[in-house]
Amino acid sequence: MTLAFKHRISNFSAGPSTLPTSVLEKAKHELLNYQDSGMSIMEVSHRTKLFEDVLEHATNQIKKLMELSDDMEVLFMQGGARYQFAVTPLNFLDDQSSADIVHTGAWTKLAIQEISQFCSPRIVASSEDRNFSYLPKIDLSNFDPNAKYVHYCSNNTIYGTQWKNFQFLKNIPVVVDMSSDILSRKLDFNQFDLIYAGAQKNLGPSGITLVVIKKEFADKGRSDIPKYFQYRSHIENQSMFNTPPTFAIYLLGLVTDWIQEQGGLESIEKRNTEKSNLLYNFIDKSSLYTNSISNEDRSQMNVVFRLDSGNEDLEQDFVKQAHQNELFGLKGHRSAGGIRASIYNAQSLEAVKNLVSFMSEFERTH
Ligand SMILES: *Cc1c(COP(=O)(O)O)cnc(C)c1O
Repeated sequence: MTLAFKHRISNFSAGPSTLPTSVLEKAKHELLNYQDSGMSIMEVSHRTKLFEDVLEHATNQIKKLMELSDDMEVLFMQGGARYQFAVTPLNFLDDQSSADIVHTGAWTKLAIQEISQFCSPRIVASSEDRNFSYLPKIDLSNFDPNAKYVHYCSNNTIYGTQWKNFQFLKNIPVVVDMSSDILSRKLDFNQFDLIYAGAQKNLGPSGITLVVIKKEFADKGRSDIPKYFQYRSHIENQSMFNTPPTFAIYLLGLVTDWIQEQGGLESIEKRNTEKSNLLYNFIDKSSLYTNSISNEDRSQMNVVFRLDSGNEDLEQDFVKQAHQNELFGLKGHRSAGGIRASIYNAQSLEAVKNLVSFMSEFERTH
């Protein structure tokens, strides 16, 4: 980075991404001496009461915010969402069984790759024909009533699409990768059997993955694989099968406190709708910026757009000038190109307004 800033700027990175300033300040304040223990929370054993309280608090906050029923287990795991791509098929598939996939982008492609280590996954719906620029129609008659599970990605971080409703066969477990929109809206989370999310987009720092799994589904997992890979081991050991990422869990707990202070998921969703509408409405009115995703498929988390129908030189200039104007992280994913503004929970309405002002000024001068 060549620019220097003496204060926090607006960060639109896709992940790791911006965190609430108040959370970072609290962590900073408590860093050297956590709750008068004379130590950092980073420095104490995960078997201390001090840390056990942190873990319990984070777990309870997740249960409360997601309104989880008692048969849903909350786990903090490591290895990111990509570890889940691998470990889900490992637990539930063998060469006699298969899984269904709703294929909506680069992340489902990677999930497909891992499932393919066991069987040929059935693609029950796909938007690959138009480079994932829409969400495919779901026809339940394509679904396999004998599948071990169906895999969805709730928000397609790279292509800027997001499912509002999920359709699936009753009695077939549903696995959802919610890495980029977890806790961003109210949903019936109990309708799913396995939800996972790398924390670095909406929940905290990287290095920790939130996993919510229905106990009954976890029990169906194979027991002839190494214990570390079995969900049940992590349930039995309450996320402490091995030393958990203690500081990351502590930070995630602070982020859930912040969500609660904002008024919970309902208020968070309202804010997210307001932020994304502001940006989409501006883009739709502009003659320089375009987003061709239909309204109902658009993501509230990742707003993707092109300049001048994909003028790469101009887009490069846009990203550079935006950074000079304290707007960082707007370059689109390398596989999709263009511009992407990630406006997760912690992104302020103020920052989105600043982005729109900048875009307006950029359009005026180009
Ligand atoms: C970022 C992202 C991932 C990858 O997460 P890791 O934690 O890096 O493995 C997977 N799925 C989605 C939808 C993502 O946005």
